[in-house]
Amino acid sequence: MANKSDVLIIGGGTAGIMVAARMLKEDPNLSVSIIEPADSHYYQPAWTLVGAGTYNYEKTKRSMASVMPKKVNWIKEYADKFYPDENKVTTSGGKEYTYDYLVVCPGIKIDPALVEGLSEAMDKGVVCSNYTDPMHTWEVLKNFKGGTALFTQPTTPIKCGGAPQKIMYLAGDLWRKNGVAKNTNIVFATAGTIIFGVPEIAKTLMQVVDRNDINLRFGYKLVAVDAREQIAWYEMAPHEKEYNHKDIEVITDGNRKGIKFDMMHLAPPQSAPDFIKTSPLANEAGWVDVDHGTLQHNKYPNIFSLGDVAALPTAKTGAAIRKQVPIVTENIKRLMANKPKYEKTYNGYSSCPLVTGYGKMALAEFDYDNNFTPDPKLRQMLVFDSSKEHWRLWILKKYMLPYLYWNKMMKGVDV
Ligand SMILES: Cc1cc2nc3c(=O)[nH]c(=O)nc-3n(C[C@H](O)[C@H](O)[C@H](O)COP(=O)(O)OP(=O)(O)OC[C@H]3O[C@@H](n4cnc5c(N)ncnc54)[C@H](O)[C@@H]3O)c2cc1C
Repeated sequence: MANKSDVLIIGGGTAGIMVAARMLKEDPNLSVSIIEPADSHYYQPAWTLVGAGTYNYEKTKRSMASVMPKKVNWIKEYADKFYPDENKVTTSGGKEYTYDYLVVCPGIKIDPALVEGLSEAMDKGVVCSNYTDPMHTWEVLKNFKGGTALFTQPTTPIKCGGAPQKIMYLAGDLWRKNGVAKNTNIVFATAGTIIFGVPEIAKTLMQVVDRNDINLRFGYKLVAVDAREQIAWYEMAPHEKEYNHKDIEVITDGNRKGIKFDMMHLAPPQSAPDFIKTSPLANEAGWVDVDHGTLQHNKYPNIFSLGDVAALPTAKTGAAIRKQVPIVTENIKRLMANKPKYEKTYNGYSSCPLVTGYGKMALAEFDYDNNFTPDPKLRQMLVFDSSKEHWRLWILKKYMLPYLYWNKMMKGVDV
């Protein structure tokens, strides 16, 4: 027998819990269900600090039961198939759930298999990632004795695009303080062409790059990792270029270059979850095909998507979700009441707290066009130019944002 909800949500991560909490706060009589298989919910933005040994991993984790809004019907299963013409979702356990409105937000899949050799190499020995095991990152950073420290990222979309750099700046700071920096070459290899898309932030980051004497390598597309020989293999793009060259060991093989490393931090490749890719909701690239402004599905008007899984041309972050949630909930409310669409649309807002050292941070806030759009509320914190490093922004990252996340955002309160 089918179970019916007014609103059915797929995924109880940042987006799913925020949508549910907000909808129920505004109308406690709604029937809201969340399909979510996990026992724990994580505050992933703090994993950068865990990787740098300055935040307790256990504090980033809470039981799923504790963040589920009380009135939500929690279906502890994996969503499996979508039948949008029948307003129905089935789970891997074979159950059926129907809905009036569906919100799809199961996040992004960590997909190491897209880089040859990476599945075997991940989170072992000197290969670490804040995306999968930030405590291992800290072990690698603190035990590092010098050599080539390679920081890199894949060509796929990733959540929090700044995270592969943040840990590099923290590592640079750590190694300058503990003396390891003098016999270390820090290398950042990326397929991109620039350090950051927002010019104001790029300027600050180049100062941080100089302070840490970092060798930047652009046009490096990661294709394989040889864990035994400690070599990261790249296919070279035509726009290959370098900044602040260092004499590190690089092997050339046709159009490939292999960088020999003594430690490596990477963001693994990421993709849409398989059950989304193969569903009628996905676009060609596998992401949920929604309108960039209303977040409504381009084919099925009673389906919305937000968060990492949505096909939105902006950075995939929790901060973006904070601005996406009110658009989704208001549009659903209006559809329920047969009212015209919400006049406000999502402008692509996203934000990346660029930790640039212990006690230092710049805050990138931007829209679809990469315009720098700092929150005017920062002035209340006496931060007048958030494109520059500031200790108050570090306080925001380490203490204020986690507090706001657990106590306000998870409860459907605007922050
Ligand atoms: C190292 C790191 C640093 C970051 N730093 C920042 C930062 O500084 N600032 C920032 O704003 N963001 C940051 N982020 C990004 C941020 O954490 C994500 O963008 C955000 O959590 C995405 O929310 P989501 O709800 O889309 O997905 P998630 O929060 O990942 O939740 C997805 C949920 O869906 C569930 N799910 C999966 N499959 C199924 C299924 N088949 N059926 C039902 N449920 C399913 C999962 O169990 C999970 O609970 C960072 C992320 C990482 C990894």
